[in-house]
Amino acid sequence: MSETWSIIVHGGAGLIKPERREAKRAATLAAVQAGAVVLAAGGTAVEAVVAAVRLMEDDPHFNAGFGAVLNADRRVELDSALMDGATLDLGGVAAVQGVKNPIEVAHLMLRDEPVLLAGDGARRYAAEKGAAMIDPEAMIAPHRRTDDVADTVGCVVFDVEGNFAAGTSTGGRPGKRPGRIGDSPIPGAGLYAQNGVGAVSLSGEGELILRRILGARLVADLETTDAATAADRAIGAMGGQGGVGCIVLGADGGPAFAHNAPDFAVAMAQAGKPARAFLNRGEWQGD
Ligand code: ASP
Repeated sequence: MSETWSIIVHGGAGLIKPERREAKRAATLAAVQAGAVVLAAGGTAVEAVVAAVRLMEDDPHFNAGFGAVLNADRRVELDSALMDGATLDLGGVAAVQGVKNPIEVAHLMLRDEPVLLAGDGARRYAAEKGAAMIDPEAMIAPHRRTDDVADTVGCVVFDVEGNFAAGTSTGGRPGKRPGRIGDSPIPGAGLYAQNGVGAVSLSGEGELILRRILGARLVADLETTDAATAADRAIGAMGGQGGVGCIVLGADGGPAFAHNAPDFAVAMAQAGKPARAFLNRGEWQGD
C-alpha cells in the first residue's frame, strides 16, 4: 500500500454558458471532494467513483440521473457504467428509466454475471436487487423542459492499493431516439480501467466515440505513454469532430485531460494536493 491516490471527475464536454460557469465549477469540485474523502479514508477506487458520480447524478445541473436531458418522448432515459481495473469487472445499464441512480445499479452488477443490461431488463434487475426506484416523471427537472445543455459526468480513480476504476453516467444526447445507446456505458468507448495501465472516461457525441473506439485507443496508448500525451492524441484522432473530452489517469496515477469541445469541466485531487476545478484546458497548467 502507498500513500498515493488520485481522482479526476468531469462534468461533460460542451460550451458552458457564462451564467452557469461558477455553479459548474463548484459542482465538479464538490464531486471530486466526495471521491477524495473516500480515498483519504482508505476506500477503494470503485467506492470513490461511485461516491463522486452519485453526487453528480443527484445534481440537476448535470446530464445524469435526476435532471438529465429528455429524449424524443420527453422522458429521462439513462446510460451508466462502472469498471474495476483490478478485475476488469464491469457493470452497465443502458436506456433505462425509473431508476434513481444508474451508477448504483452498475455497482450492483459489478460482481454479477451480466455486464450490460438495457431498458426494461435493466429496470427489473435494479428493482430485484433493491436499488432506489423512482417514478420516471420525478426524474425530470423543471429546467430540462426548456434547456438542452448536455453535461454527461465521469470519474477515474487510482487508489492507495494501486487499483484503477472508471465510471460514466449520462442522459445521452438531448432529443435522442428512445432506445438509443451512446458511448457512455460501453467499455472501450465511454470508459475503461485496467490496473497497471490507467483509466479513462469520455464525453461528447457518442456515435463518433463508438465508431472510433476512442476509450480503447486511449488505453492502448497508455501502455507506452503518459496520460497527457495519450489524451492529446485521442482528441487529435477526432480531427476536430464530436465535441469530445477525455479525463485520463496514466499508469503512475498521473492526471490529464483534453478536449476539442469549447469547454470541459474537470476537477482533480491527489494525495497531499488540494482539489482544483477547471472549466477548460486553458485553465490547467498541467501537473
Ligand atoms: N457521450 C454522451 C452520449 O453520446 C453524451 C455526452 O457526453 O454529451 O450519450
